[in-house]
Amino acid sequence: MMTRPFLLLLACLLLAHASEGESQAPPLFQPDARYKADLLIVIAHPDDDMVIGGYLARISLDDRKRIAVVYCTNGDGGGNVVGNEAGAALGQMRILEARRALSAWGIENVWFLNWHDTPGQNVLWSLDRWNHGLALDEIVRLVRITRPEVIMTFLPDHVAGENHDDHQAAGVLATEAFDAAGDPTQFPEQVSPPRNGGMANLTEGLLPWQPQKLYYFTDAFEDFGPYWHNAAELSPFRKSMMDGRGPTYETTTISPSRRVSYARLTVDQQIFYLTQEGSLGEQALKSQNFKDFAYPVRLIFGKSVVGGSPTGDVFERVLKSPAPFVRVRGYEPEHPDGLSFEMGDPWRFYSLFWKAHNLDHLAELIPVPEVAAKFGDKLNIALLACNQTQSLAEIALTPALPTGWTDQTTFTQYPVRPGECYPIQAQITLPASGKPEWQQLTWTAAAGSRQVGTVKLRVYAGDSGGLPQ
Ligand SMILES: [Zn+2]
Repeated sequence: MMTRPFLLLLACLLLAHASEGESQAPPLFQPDARYKADLLIVIAHPDDDMVIGGYLARISLDDRKRIAVVYCTNGDGGGNVVGNEAGAALGQMRILEARRALSAWGIENVWFLNWHDTPGQNVLWSLDRWNHGLALDEIVRLVRITRPEVIMTFLPDHVAGENHDDHQAAGVLATEAFDAAGDPTQFPEQVSPPRNGGMANLTEGLLPWQPQKLYYFTDAFEDFGPYWHNAAELSPFRKSMMDGRGPTYETTTISPSRRVSYARLTVDQQIFYLTQEGSLGEQALKSQNFKDFAYPVRLIFGKSVVGGSPTGDVFERVLKSPAPFVRVRGYEPEHPDGLSFEMGDPWRFYSLFWKAHNLDHLAELIPVPEVAAKFGDKLNIALLACNQTQSLAEIALTPALPTGWTDQTTFTQYPVRPGECYPIQAQITLPASGKPEWQQLTWTAAAGSRQVGTVKLRVYAGDSGGLPQ
Protein backbone atom coordinates (compact mmCIF):
# COMPACT_ATOMS: atom_id res chain seq x y z
CA MET A 1 0.00 0.00 0.00
CA MET A 2 1.33 3.42 -0.93
CA THR A 3 1.60 5.95 1.83
CA ARG A 4 0.09 9.44 1.39
CA PRO A 5 3.49 11.25 1.40
CA PHE A 6 4.80 8.91 -1.29
CA LEU A 7 1.75 9.58 -3.51
CA LEU A 8 2.25 13.32 -3.05
CA LEU A 9 5.90 13.05 -4.08
CA LEU A 10 4.96 10.99 -7.15
CA ALA A 11 2.36 13.61 -8.18
CA CYS A 12 4.94 16.38 -7.81
CA LEU A 13 7.50 14.50 -9.90
CA LEU A 14 4.95 13.82 -12.66
CA LEU A 15 3.91 17.47 -12.68
CA ALA A 16 7.50 18.66 -12.80
CA HIS A 17 8.17 16.30 -15.68
CA ALA A 18 5.13 17.58 -17.59
CA SER A 19 6.07 21.25 -17.10
CA GLU A 20 9.69 20.53 -18.14
CA GLY A 21 8.43 19.07 -21.40
CA GLU A 22 6.40 22.17 -22.22
CA SER A 23 8.82 24.80 -20.90
CA GLN A 24 9.71 27.61 -23.26
CA ALA A 25 13.34 28.42 -24.06
CA PRO A 26 14.19 32.10 -23.61
CA PRO A 27 14.79 34.16 -26.77
CA LEU A 28 18.40 34.41 -27.86
CA PHE A 29 20.42 37.41 -26.81
CA GLN A 30 20.91 39.93 -29.60
CA PRO A 31 24.48 41.00 -30.41
CA ASP A 32 25.52 43.69 -27.93
CA ALA A 33 24.21 46.97 -29.36
CA ARG A 34 26.75 49.08 -27.46
CA TYR A 35 29.45 48.02 -29.92
CA LYS A 36 27.47 48.35 -33.17
CA ALA A 37 29.19 50.73 -35.58
CA ASP A 38 28.06 52.24 -38.87
CA LEU A 39 31.69 52.78 -39.82
CA LEU A 40 34.79 50.89 -38.72
CA ILE A 41 38.17 52.55 -39.27
CA VAL A 42 41.24 50.28 -39.41
CA ILE A 43 44.48 52.24 -39.14
CA ALA A 44 48.05 51.72 -37.99
CA HIS A 45 49.05 54.49 -35.57
CA PRO A 46 47.51 56.86 -33.04
CA ASP A 47 47.07 60.06 -35.16
CA ASP A 48 46.36 58.26 -38.48
CA ASP A 49 42.74 59.25 -37.86
CA MET A 50 43.86 62.84 -38.65
CA VAL A 51 44.06 61.90 -42.36
CA ILE A 52 40.25 61.71 -42.43
CA GLY A 53 39.65 63.94 -39.40
CA GLY A 54 37.34 66.35 -41.23
CA TYR A 55 35.16 63.48 -42.39
CA LEU A 56 35.05 61.89 -38.94
CA ALA A 57 33.94 65.22 -37.43
CA ARG A 58 31.20 65.53 -40.04
CA ILE A 59 29.70 62.09 -39.66
CA SER A 60 30.07 61.74 -35.89
CA LEU A 61 28.86 65.23 -34.91
CA ASP A 62 26.31 65.99 -37.65
CA ASP A 63 25.28 62.69 -39.24
CA ARG A 64 25.26 60.94 -35.84
CA LYS A 65 27.00 57.88 -37.24
CA ARG A 66 28.47 55.40 -34.81
CA ILE A 67 32.19 54.99 -35.40
CA ALA A 68 34.61 52.39 -34.09
CA VAL A 69 38.37 52.48 -34.57
CA VAL A 70 41.05 49.79 -34.59
CA TYR A 71 44.70 50.82 -34.26
CA CYS A 72 47.02 48.00 -35.30
CA THR A 73 49.96 49.46 -33.32
CA ASN A 74 50.34 51.89 -30.43
CA GLY A 75 52.92 53.89 -32.39
CA ASP A 76 55.90 52.73 -30.32
CA GLY A 77 58.28 53.31 -33.26
CA GLY A 78 57.34 56.95 -33.74
CA GLY A 79 59.12 60.15 -32.74
CA ASN A 80 58.28 62.46 -29.89
CA VAL A 81 58.51 66.20 -30.47
CA VAL A 82 57.58 67.20 -26.91
CA GLY A 83 59.51 64.81 -24.66
CA ASN A 84 62.18 62.15 -24.15
CA GLU A 85 59.74 59.26 -23.89
CA ALA A 86 60.23 56.75 -26.68
CA GLY A 87 59.57 53.11 -27.57
CA ALA A 88 57.11 51.25 -25.35
CA ALA A 89 56.68 54.27 -23.06
CA LEU A 90 55.75 56.46 -26.01
CA GLY A 91 53.34 53.75 -27.17
CA GLN A 92 51.47 53.89 -23.85
CA MET A 93 51.20 57.67 -24.13
CA ARG A 94 50.01 57.56 -27.71
CA ILE A 95 47.21 55.17 -26.75
CA LEU A 96 45.83 57.86 -24.44
CA GLU A 97 46.40 60.61 -27.00
CA ALA A 98 44.20 58.70 -29.45
CA ARG A 99 41.51 57.85 -26.88
CA ARG A 100 41.28 61.51 -25.85
CA ALA A 101 41.32 62.78 -29.44
CA LEU A 102 38.48 60.49 -30.49
CA SER A 103 36.42 61.00 -27.35
CA ALA A 104 36.32 64.72 -28.27
CA TRP A 105 33.74 63.57 -30.84
CA GLY A 106 32.15 60.87 -28.71
CA ILE A 107 34.07 57.99 -30.32
CA GLU A 108 34.84 55.53 -27.55
CA ASN A 109 34.77 52.10 -29.16
CA VAL A 110 38.50 52.14 -29.82
CA TRP A 111 40.76 49.09 -29.83
CA PHE A 112 44.55 48.77 -29.90
CA LEU A 113 46.04 45.55 -31.23
CA ASN A 114 49.48 46.61 -29.98
CA TRP A 115 51.57 45.18 -32.79
CA HIS A 116 54.92 46.92 -33.14
CA ASP A 117 55.26 50.07 -35.19
CA THR A 118 57.65 49.18 -38.06
CA PRO A 119 58.98 52.27 -39.84
CA GLY A 120 59.61 51.23 -43.46
CA GLN A 121 57.94 51.00 -46.84
CA ASN A 122 57.52 47.28 -47.51
CA VAL A 123 54.07 46.09 -46.43
CA LEU A 124 55.35 42.53 -46.03
CA TRP A 125 57.73 43.65 -43.26
CA SER A 126 54.82 44.90 -41.16
CA LEU A 127 52.65 41.88 -41.90
CA ASP A 128 55.49 39.62 -40.81
CA ARG A 129 56.20 41.52 -37.61
CA TRP A 130 52.48 41.63 -36.76
CA ASN A 131 52.01 37.87 -37.12
CA HIS A 132 49.71 38.32 -40.09
CA GLY A 133 47.30 35.47 -39.26
CA LEU A 134 46.91 36.50 -35.64
CA ALA A 135 46.37 40.13 -36.61
CA LEU A 136 43.68 39.07 -39.10
CA ASP A 137 42.03 36.88 -36.45
CA GLU A 138 41.76 39.95 -34.21
CA ILE A 139 40.45 42.28 -36.89
CA VAL A 140 37.85 39.75 -38.08
CA ARG A 141 36.74 39.41 -34.44
CA LEU A 142 36.35 43.19 -34.17
CA VAL A 143 34.39 43.33 -37.45
CA ARG A 144 32.02 40.69 -36.02
CA ILE A 145 31.69 42.61 -32.74
CA THR A 146 31.18 46.05 -34.34
CA ARG A 147 29.14 44.85 -37.37
CA PRO A 148 29.95 47.89 -39.53
CA GLU A 149 28.18 48.65 -42.79
CA VAL A 150 31.31 50.46 -44.03
CA ILE A 151 35.01 49.87 -43.44
CA MET A 152 37.58 52.60 -44.12
CA THR A 153 41.32 52.02 -44.12
CA PHE A 154 44.60 52.94 -45.79
CA LEU A 155 45.12 52.14 -49.46
CA PRO A 156 46.87 48.79 -49.88
CA ASP A 157 49.39 49.96 -52.47
CA HIS A 158 53.01 51.09 -52.70
CA VAL A 159 52.88 54.86 -53.22
CA ALA A 160 55.34 57.74 -53.35
CA GLY A 161 54.60 59.73 -50.23
CA GLU A 162 54.93 58.76 -46.62
CA ASN A 163 54.13 55.19 -47.76
CA HIS A 164 54.38 53.77 -44.24
CA ASP A 165 54.40 49.99 -44.39
CA ASP A 166 52.18 49.87 -41.29
CA HIS A 167 49.57 51.97 -43.12
CA GLN A 168 49.64 49.60 -46.05
CA ALA A 169 49.44 46.58 -43.71
CA ALA A 170 46.34 48.01 -42.00
CA GLY A 171 44.80 48.30 -45.48
CA VAL A 172 45.69 44.73 -46.41
CA LEU A 173 44.29 43.33 -43.15
CA ALA A 174 41.09 45.39 -43.29
CA THR A 175 40.51 44.21 -46.87
CA GLU A 176 41.06 40.59 -45.87
CA ALA A 177 38.73 41.02 -42.88
CA PHE A 178 36.05 42.62 -45.12
CA ASP A 179 36.07 39.45 -47.20
CA ALA A 180 36.42 36.96 -44.31
CA ALA A 181 34.13 38.15 -41.51
CA GLY A 182 30.94 36.97 -43.25
CA ASP A 183 32.34 33.50 -43.90
CA PRO A 184 31.62 31.09 -41.01
CA THR A 185 34.53 28.85 -42.04
CA GLN A 186 36.98 31.70 -41.36
CA PHE A 187 37.95 31.71 -37.69
CA PRO A 188 35.01 29.35 -36.93
CA GLU A 189 35.74 29.36 -33.19
CA GLN A 190 34.58 32.99 -33.16
CA VAL A 191 31.14 32.11 -34.55
CA SER A 192 30.54 28.82 -32.76
CA PRO A 193 27.87 29.24 -30.02
CA PRO A 194 29.16 28.98 -26.45
CA ARG A 195 28.09 25.87 -24.54
CA ASN A 196 27.37 27.59 -21.25
CA GLY A 197 25.80 30.87 -20.37
CA GLY A 198 28.45 31.09 -17.68
CA MET A 199 32.22 30.97 -17.55
CA ALA A 200 34.86 28.83 -19.20
CA ASN A 201 33.56 28.99 -22.75
CA LEU A 202 36.08 28.11 -25.41
CA THR A 203 34.12 29.47 -28.38
CA GLU A 204 32.96 33.03 -28.81
CA GLY A 205 29.30 33.18 -29.84
CA LEU A 206 29.71 35.92 -32.46
CA LEU A 207 27.78 35.97 -35.72
CA PRO A 208 29.34 36.14 -39.18
CA TRP A 209 29.11 39.67 -40.61
CA GLN A 210 29.44 40.90 -44.19
CA PRO A 211 30.33 44.62 -44.34
CA GLN A 212 28.80 46.38 -47.35
CA LYS A 213 31.29 48.96 -48.57
CA LEU A 214 35.06 49.39 -48.39
CA TYR A 215 36.86 52.73 -48.86
CA TYR A 216 40.52 53.69 -48.78
CA PHE A 217 42.50 56.82 -48.03
CA THR A 218 46.18 57.28 -48.68
CA ASP A 219 49.36 59.01 -47.63
CA ALA A 220 50.51 59.36 -51.24
CA PHE A 221 51.77 62.75 -52.45
CA GLU A 222 48.39 63.34 -54.15
CA ASP A 223 46.51 63.13 -50.89
CA PHE A 224 47.33 66.73 -49.91
CA GLY A 225 46.38 65.63 -46.44
CA PRO A 226 48.25 66.33 -43.25
CA TYR A 227 51.43 64.71 -44.60
CA TRP A 228 52.17 66.41 -47.90
CA HIS A 229 51.38 69.71 -49.53
CA ASN A 230 53.91 70.14 -52.35
CA ALA A 231 52.51 70.05 -55.89
CA ALA A 232 56.07 69.70 -57.30
CA GLU A 233 56.15 66.16 -55.91
CA LEU A 234 53.22 64.93 -58.00
CA SER A 235 54.02 62.33 -60.62
CA PRO A 236 54.16 63.93 -64.11
CA PHE A 237 53.77 60.52 -65.75
CA ARG A 238 50.06 59.96 -65.14
CA LYS A 239 46.87 61.71 -64.11
CA SER A 240 46.05 62.03 -60.42
CA MET A 241 45.41 58.68 -58.78
CA MET A 242 42.70 60.33 -56.65
CA ASP A 243 40.55 62.12 -59.24
CA GLY A 244 37.22 60.45 -59.82
CA ARG A 245 38.13 57.46 -57.68
CA GLY A 246 35.82 58.18 -54.78
CA PRO A 247 33.89 60.86 -52.91
CA THR A 248 35.59 64.04 -51.66
CA TYR A 249 34.46 65.79 -48.48
CA GLU A 250 35.44 69.45 -48.16
CA THR A 251 36.44 70.54 -44.69
CA THR A 252 35.80 74.26 -45.19
CA THR A 253 32.05 73.45 -44.92
CA ILE A 254 30.39 74.68 -41.73
CA SER A 255 29.11 72.05 -39.30
CA PRO A 256 25.37 72.66 -38.70
CA SER A 257 25.60 71.51 -35.08
CA ARG A 258 28.86 73.26 -34.09
CA ARG A 259 28.64 76.31 -36.42
CA VAL A 260 32.34 76.20 -37.29
CA SER A 261 34.15 74.53 -40.18
CA TYR A 262 35.14 70.87 -40.11
CA ALA A 263 38.74 72.09 -40.50
CA ARG A 264 38.35 74.00 -37.23
CA LEU A 265 36.80 70.91 -35.61
CA THR A 266 39.77 68.79 -36.71
CA VAL A 267 41.88 70.92 -34.36
CA ASP A 268 39.85 69.57 -31.40
CA GLN A 269 41.24 66.17 -32.34
CA GLN A 270 44.77 67.30 -33.19
CA ILE A 271 45.48 69.09 -29.89
CA PHE A 272 45.73 65.71 -28.18
CA TYR A 273 48.42 64.44 -30.55
CA LEU A 274 51.18 66.47 -28.93
CA THR A 275 53.94 63.86 -29.29
CA GLN A 276 53.45 63.73 -33.06
CA GLU A 277 52.53 67.22 -34.20
CA GLY A 278 53.46 69.38 -31.21
CA SER A 279 51.52 72.57 -30.72
CA LEU A 280 50.23 72.87 -34.32
CA GLY A 281 46.64 72.77 -33.08
CA GLU A 282 47.19 75.15 -30.18
CA GLN A 283 48.82 77.67 -32.52
CA ALA A 284 45.91 77.40 -34.95
CA LEU A 285 43.46 78.11 -32.13
CA LYS A 286 45.52 81.07 -30.96
CA SER A 287 45.77 82.59 -34.44
CA GLN A 288 42.31 81.38 -35.52
CA ASN A 289 43.99 80.29 -38.76
CA PHE A 290 42.93 76.78 -39.73
CA LYS A 291 44.42 76.54 -43.21
CA ASP A 292 46.73 73.64 -42.18
CA PHE A 293 43.60 71.64 -41.37
CA ALA A 294 41.50 72.63 -44.38
CA TYR A 295 42.58 69.74 -46.60
CA PRO A 296 39.67 67.92 -48.20
CA VAL A 297 39.12 64.30 -47.24
CA ARG A 298 39.48 62.34 -50.47
CA LEU A 299 38.50 58.70 -50.48
CA ILE A 300 39.21 55.91 -52.94
CA PHE A 301 36.33 53.51 -53.53
CA GLY A 302 37.39 49.96 -52.84
CA LYS A 303 34.27 47.89 -53.35
CA SER A 304 30.63 47.48 -52.49
CA VAL A 305 28.38 44.44 -52.17
CA VAL A 306 25.29 46.69 -52.48
CA GLY A 307 26.12 48.70 -55.61
CA GLY A 308 26.31 52.50 -55.70
CA SER A 309 28.66 54.70 -57.70
CA PRO A 310 32.35 55.01 -56.79
CA THR A 311 32.07 58.78 -56.25
CA GLY A 312 28.70 58.66 -54.47
CA ASP A 313 28.33 59.23 -50.74
CA VAL A 314 29.94 56.63 -48.50
CA PHE A 315 26.56 55.56 -47.10
CA GLU A 316 24.75 55.62 -50.47
CA ARG A 317 22.80 52.37 -51.01
CA VAL A 318 23.78 50.95 -47.62
CA LEU A 319 21.16 48.46 -46.40
CA LYS A 320 19.65 48.59 -42.92
CA SER A 321 19.43 44.78 -42.78
CA PRO A 322 22.55 42.60 -42.74
CA ALA A 323 24.01 41.92 -46.19
CA PRO A 324 24.45 38.32 -47.37
CA PHE A 325 27.99 36.96 -47.69
CA VAL A 326 29.72 37.70 -50.98
CA ARG A 327 32.60 35.47 -51.97
CA VAL A 328 35.67 36.96 -53.63
CA ARG A 329 37.67 35.32 -56.37
CA GLY A 330 40.67 34.34 -54.25
CA TYR A 331 44.06 33.50 -55.64
CA GLU A 332 44.06 31.90 -59.05
CA PRO A 333 47.36 30.49 -60.27
CA GLU A 334 48.73 32.03 -63.42
CA HIS A 335 50.32 29.81 -66.02
CA PRO A 336 52.87 31.90 -67.86
CA ASP A 337 54.99 30.17 -70.43
CA GLY A 338 58.45 30.93 -71.65
CA LEU A 339 60.65 33.41 -69.83
CA SER A 340 59.28 36.41 -67.95
CA PHE A 341 60.63 39.40 -66.06
CA GLU A 342 58.70 41.67 -63.64
CA MET A 343 58.85 43.63 -60.39
CA GLY A 344 59.26 41.49 -57.29
CA ASP A 345 57.67 41.98 -53.87
CA PRO A 346 55.99 44.01 -52.58
CA TRP A 347 54.71 45.05 -56.06
CA ARG A 348 54.24 41.45 -57.15
CA PHE A 349 52.29 40.73 -53.96
CA TYR A 350 49.93 43.65 -54.62
CA SER A 351 49.25 42.58 -58.21
CA LEU A 352 48.10 39.18 -56.88
CA PHE A 353 46.33 40.59 -53.80
CA TRP A 354 44.12 43.02 -55.76
CA LYS A 355 42.94 40.29 -58.11
CA ALA A 356 42.29 37.83 -55.26
CA HIS A 357 40.09 40.40 -53.48
CA ASN A 358 38.15 41.63 -56.56
CA LEU A 359 39.99 44.96 -56.47
CA ASP A 360 41.43 44.81 -60.00
CA HIS A 361 40.75 48.52 -60.50
CA LEU A 362 43.42 49.43 -57.93
CA ALA A 363 46.04 48.36 -60.48
CA GLU A 364 45.03 51.41 -62.59
CA LEU A 365 45.94 53.95 -59.89
CA ILE A 366 49.71 53.74 -60.43
CA PRO A 367 50.25 51.72 -63.62
CA VAL A 368 54.07 51.92 -63.40
CA PRO A 369 55.58 51.53 -59.90
CA GLU A 370 56.69 54.75 -58.21
CA VAL A 371 58.84 55.49 -55.17
CA ALA A 372 60.31 58.58 -53.51
CA ALA A 373 63.94 58.66 -52.39
CA LYS A 374 66.40 61.11 -50.93
CA PHE A 375 69.57 62.28 -52.69
CA GLY A 376 72.41 59.99 -51.58
CA ASP A 377 70.01 57.15 -50.65
CA LYS A 378 70.39 53.58 -51.80
CA LEU A 379 67.30 52.11 -53.46
CA ASN A 380 66.64 48.38 -53.12
CA ILE A 381 64.39 47.22 -55.91
CA ALA A 382 63.08 43.66 -56.11
CA LEU A 383 62.87 42.11 -59.57
CA LEU A 384 61.79 38.64 -60.56
CA ALA A 385 62.95 36.51 -63.50
CA CYS A 386 60.93 33.35 -64.17
CA ASN A 387 61.65 30.40 -66.40
CA GLN A 388 58.73 28.25 -67.58
CA THR A 389 60.71 26.56 -70.34
CA GLN A 390 62.28 23.10 -70.29
CA SER A 391 65.88 24.28 -70.12
CA LEU A 392 68.18 26.42 -68.00
CA ALA A 393 68.10 30.12 -68.88
CA GLU A 394 70.94 32.56 -68.26
CA ILE A 395 69.20 35.88 -67.70
CA ALA A 396 71.32 39.01 -68.11
CA LEU A 397 70.21 42.29 -66.60
CA THR A 398 70.94 45.75 -68.02
CA PRO A 399 69.84 48.89 -66.16
CA ALA A 400 69.28 52.27 -67.83
CA LEU A 401 69.73 54.97 -65.19
CA PRO A 402 69.56 58.80 -65.12
CA THR A 403 72.89 60.67 -65.21
CA GLY A 404 74.74 60.52 -61.90
CA TRP A 405 72.84 57.49 -60.60
CA THR A 406 74.98 54.40 -59.95
CA ASP A 407 74.20 50.71 -60.16
CA GLN A 408 75.56 48.64 -57.27
CA THR A 409 73.68 45.44 -57.99
CA THR A 410 75.97 42.52 -57.09
CA PHE A 411 75.36 40.37 -60.19
CA THR A 412 74.46 41.01 -63.79
CA GLN A 413 73.73 37.43 -64.85
CA TYR A 414 71.34 34.94 -63.18
CA PRO A 415 70.97 31.17 -63.78
CA VAL A 416 67.23 30.38 -63.74
CA ARG A 417 66.37 26.67 -63.82
CA PRO A 418 63.17 25.35 -65.46
CA GLY A 419 60.15 26.07 -63.22
CA GLU A 420 62.05 28.57 -61.05
CA CYS A 421 61.64 32.29 -60.37
CA TYR A 422 64.87 34.00 -59.40
CA PRO A 423 64.43 36.95 -56.98
CA ILE A 424 66.87 39.70 -57.95
CA GLN A 425 67.76 42.63 -55.68
CA ALA A 426 68.80 45.64 -57.72
CA GLN A 427 70.68 48.30 -55.78
CA ILE A 428 70.84 51.83 -57.10
CA THR A 429 72.44 54.84 -55.42
CA LEU A 430 71.10 58.32 -56.07
CA PRO A 431 73.51 61.20 -56.65
CA ALA A 432 74.47 63.10 -53.48
CA SER A 433 72.56 66.19 -54.54
CA GLY A 434 70.59 67.60 -57.44
CA LYS A 435 67.39 69.25 -58.53
CA PRO A 436 64.35 67.58 -56.94
CA GLU A 437 62.48 65.90 -59.78
CA TRP A 438 61.01 62.69 -61.12
CA GLN A 439 63.20 60.24 -63.03
CA GLN A 440 62.59 56.98 -64.81
CA LEU A 441 64.72 53.85 -64.38
CA THR A 442 64.57 50.83 -66.65
CA TRP A 443 65.91 47.29 -66.38
CA THR A 444 66.03 45.06 -69.41
CA ALA A 445 66.36 41.30 -69.12
CA ALA A 446 67.69 39.14 -71.96
CA ALA A 447 68.57 35.49 -72.41
CA GLY A 448 71.35 35.37 -74.96
CA SER A 449 70.09 37.34 -77.93
CA ARG A 450 66.45 36.93 -76.83
CA GLN A 451 64.68 39.87 -75.11
CA VAL A 452 62.81 38.62 -72.02
CA GLY A 453 61.21 41.82 -70.77
CA THR A 454 61.56 45.33 -69.42
CA VAL A 455 60.68 46.73 -66.01
CA LYS A 456 60.21 50.45 -65.38
CA LEU A 457 60.34 52.31 -62.08
CA ARG A 458 59.66 56.01 -61.56
CA VAL A 459 61.50 57.71 -58.74
CA TYR A 460 60.99 61.12 -57.20
CA ALA A 461 64.45 62.22 -56.08
CA GLY A 462 64.25 64.93 -53.47
CA ASP A 463 65.67 66.28 -50.23
CA SER A 464 63.47 64.07 -48.09
CA GLY A 465 62.67 60.51 -49.04
CA GLY A 466 60.39 59.37 -46.25
CA LEU A 467 60.90 56.09 -44.44
CA PRO A 468 63.61 53.44 -44.98
CA GLN A 469 63.04 51.89 -48.38
ZN1 LIG B 1 50.76 56.51 -39.27
